[in-house]
Amino acid sequence: MSYLFPPPAVVAVPVAGQEDMFPVHRIYCVGRNYEDHAREMGFSGREPPFFFLKPADALVVVPAGQTVDIPYPSLTRSLHHEIELVVAIGKGGANIPAAQALSHVWGYAVGLDMTRRDLQNEMKKQGRPWCIGKAFDHSAPMGPILPVANAGPIEEATLALHVNGTLRQSSPISKLIWNVAETIEHLSSAWTLQPGDLIFTGTPQGVADVVPGDLLEGTITGLDTLSVRIRSTPA
Ligand code: MN
Repeated sequence: MSYLFPPPAVVAVPVAGQEDMFPVHRIYCVGRNYEDHAREMGFSGREPPFFFLKPADALVVVPAGQTVDIPYPSLTRSLHHEIELVVAIGKGGANIPAAQALSHVWGYAVGLDMTRRDLQNEMKKQGRPWCIGKAFDHSAPMGPILPVANAGPIEEATLALHVNGTLRQSSPISKLIWNVAETIEHLSSAWTLQPGDLIFTGTPQGVADVVPGDLLEGTITGLDTLSVRIRSTPA
């Protein structure tokens, strides 16, 4: 069999400490999963988790020790950063109970759920899908995956984002409204998870605009730093 044109390349993320890459299936994202962020977006912080997706090729792989440029996207005047813990699924399944969920986790990484906030807000107002605000090209930069076997207890880690050296977002991961196991339980009741799925687990408060030239540095205790620079879109 042959194809009419070359099929898309497999999207794959490097793994800390080994050569094999993690091939990506889907990118799931959790909305409003830290109470302080839910409040800053005008909500109570007490609601069941909800999900949206980004296409796998929205991922921008940022190798350890490198800074990767991402373009300032079209159509927006309000590009927001959302720093997030990314959970990499190594074993699939449906209806996974929280008590078993962590055995499906292959590793953890630092990710950014970049958001065209003005467009997302307009879609919210009109009751339309968020895709244009959330699922655009280059909207999901992420760093290398640390295998769980080499990671400490993730609930004891702290998530933070500096922009141009200034702290913008910081939270203990223990403040997740729905923790990693509970998130997998909810998510796997709606979709059958597959090896290669990534889950962006939500952002704490402090989301704000970035502009071309800004340097974003995301950290989670024990993981490789994620370093991204925003560049102007070529005219
Ligand atoms: Mn998010």
